[in-house]
Amino acid sequence: MNAPTDDGVIKYSSQRVDGIVEASAQLDELNRARTILFDLGLIGAYLNGIGYGNLSLRTSGQQFVITASATGAIRQLQTDQFCLVESFSIEHNSVRSRGSLEASSESMTHGAIYAANPAVHCVMHVHSRSLFDALLARNALHTAPDIPYGTPAMARTVAQLVAAQPGLPVLFVMAGHDEGIVAYGEDIDSVRSLLVDTLNRKLTS
Ligand SMILES: [Zn+2]
Repeated sequence: MNAPTDDGVIKYSSQRVDGIVEASAQLDELNRARTILFDLGLIGAYLNGIGYGNLSLRTSGQQFVITASATGAIRQLQTDQFCLVESFSIEHNSVRSRGSLEASSESMTHGAIYAANPAVHCVMHVHSRSLFDALLARNALHTAPDIPYGTPAMARTVAQLVAAQPGLPVLFVMAGHDEGIVAYGEDIDSVRSLLVDTLNRKLTS
């Protein structure tokens, strides 16, 4: 399998303060959803060891907890493998986080979604060769293929896409980020269901 070459590379300037993300029932629920996606291969690591897939949950305002960078290969995460994104700036391409590990390299994309729609409380980014190809073949909702992941251009494009969607949950393909798929919605359950249902439909059709 060819791994996307720039995955896992943090492209924004990151400022991290050491700290602990508080355990909560919501975080446990996010972690359980993550393990389901992991078992389906939507989160994991390529043969070269580079991990893929990241999940987040809005805590308050535009702050959110997100899986830490380089955790894709782990089936069940511990609390200290999540970080709190305290603030971010698309304009300055910067992310400020609190935790014992660096926030996911795709934190900026998550932040752009939360900023664009206050009703969104959960964002999941997964990778799937088959789902990516099947969705693009039927021209499903997607960002332009010339926009690479982890860049301010992607964050801006995602913000526009989110602002244009009337309902929730929503699933779209990052055409410029090979195998990249994003789903977001009001809660963990609806987003996980949308991903799993889309995957099942593709496999049976
Ligand atoms: Zn990715």
